Amino acid sequence: MINSSLKELAAALAARKISSVELTTLFLDRIEKLNPTLNAFVTLDRAKALASARVADTKVGAGGTALTGIPLAHKDIFCTAGWRTACGSKMLANFVSPYDAHVVERFNNAGMVLLGKCNMDEFAMGSSNETSHFGPVKNPWDITCVPGGSSGGSAAAVAARLAPAATGTDTGGSIRQPAALCGLTGLKPTYGVVSRYGMIAFASSLDQAGPMAKSAEDCALLLSAMAGFDPRDSTSLERPAEDYSRDLEKPLAGLKIGLPREFFGAGMDDAVRAAVEAALAEYRKLGATTVEVGLPNSNLSVPAYYVIAPAEASSNLSRFDGVRYGHRAADYGDLNDMYAKSRAQGFGDEVKRRILIGTYVLSHGYYDAYYLKAQKIRRLIAADFAAAFKDCDVIMGPTTPSPAFKFGAKAADPVQMYLSDIYTIAVNLAGLPGMSIPCGFDNGLPVGLQLIAPWFGEARMLGVAHQYQQVSDWHRRLPAGLEI
Ligand code: GLN
Repeated sequence: MINSSLKELAAALAARKISSVELTTLFLDRIEKLNPTLNAFVTLDRAKALASARVADTKVGAGGTALTGIPLAHKDIFCTAGWRTACGSKMLANFVSPYDAHVVERFNNAGMVLLGKCNMDEFAMGSSNETSHFGPVKNPWDITCVPGGSSGGSAAAVAARLAPAATGTDTGGSIRQPAALCGLTGLKPTYGVVSRYGMIAFASSLDQAGPMAKSAEDCALLLSAMAGFDPRDSTSLERPAEDYSRDLEKPLAGLKIGLPREFFGAGMDDAVRAAVEAALAEYRKLGATTVEVGLPNSNLSVPAYYVIAPAEASSNLSRFDGVRYGHRAADYGDLNDMYAKSRAQGFGDEVKRRILIGTYVLSHGYYDAYYLKAQKIRRLIAADFAAAFKDCDVIMGPTTPSPAFKFGAKAADPVQMYLSDIYTIAVNLAGLPGMSIPCGFDNGLPVGLQLIAPWFGEARMLGVAHQYQQVSDWHRRLPAGLEI
């Protein structure tokens, strides 16, 4: 059961081979055993999880959905009523949310059972989970390596089979990069497809929630549940509901895969290149053809992102001032001193760095030179993709330049850390859907293949991933010592 697909779990629940309470207990016991090593979960509540499993058990087969009774983990960036929502930060370490995020509400309505809240980089700023106030998450494939970030807790939880699936958020790569480093399938939808209501904001024009799971098939089921219009998020798109599983069985004959020459140049590890090339050869066998495309402005994506994302973050994080909720300094003088001390104590170094950069690039005199310029580059990057998609149906390349790195390897050098997302960030700037699927290993560490689709191309992209997962078994492998 611990290693079953969502479909298999749904079938077992429907046939009464197992109850949701029993299934939830299996996962909670495994979490109890392995989480002290992995640190994937920061908040657990056995009684709450079992109470919702009991409710789910009354609904399985009686008005439930395909997901009713199946346990799930949420990244701790999603507000969950009655559960602590700390967002990886000391600032919110005691914050219990009074309401549910849209995504949480959706999964609750579908009858899924919340197992616990997953560790993450502070306010989703990071690529290694080393910025979490609650300590780093360990990569289940090698506990001396990072799991990626910022959704590293979600990734480690699913990779170690502590949860059948999890939610993540992706502002510059935070679903795809940890999915790649932990051997998972993770999808970032088109901007606006999933509501951001109740998802603690980092960079509002880039943030999107998405599923992290063992396969494309599972991601399709989860995305069908979490996507949809929500009037409480002004950037939520009013579109008809979609069944994201609809193209899973579609054959790949005639599929045109675009390979951006900028992604295949220097900077990629040899082992990553070999795994990606082998996956492309598999796709050709499945009937696809490959064509070289250009994304000439992609070298500007990291610098543009590190102007835009901090600018938005500096504005979003101004709400954490110690007044209404969150950390407040114990000793202070006047009101300004209270703000300053609360923020100085509540935020970690990376968050402070972003607030400083963001405030600087938005300040009078620098706005045009940095922020406005970055926005222009953003437009050019989106136009590059639009032009590339005239020649292909889907773009492929590496998700990350290298497999998981050791703790501390990049922590002292922010620019090196920022470059971990060199292949993922352009997708967020353009608002496109992207995903990562396992395509091989290097020295026992997973390697990810990135798929990028045109706007609203999720269903086809999931089908393209699923077809590969029918002829490969990378996504089925388990970390040594964690076999079931
Ligand atoms: N690693 C990137 C950053 O630190 C992206 C994070 C994310 O997608 N949330 O900003």
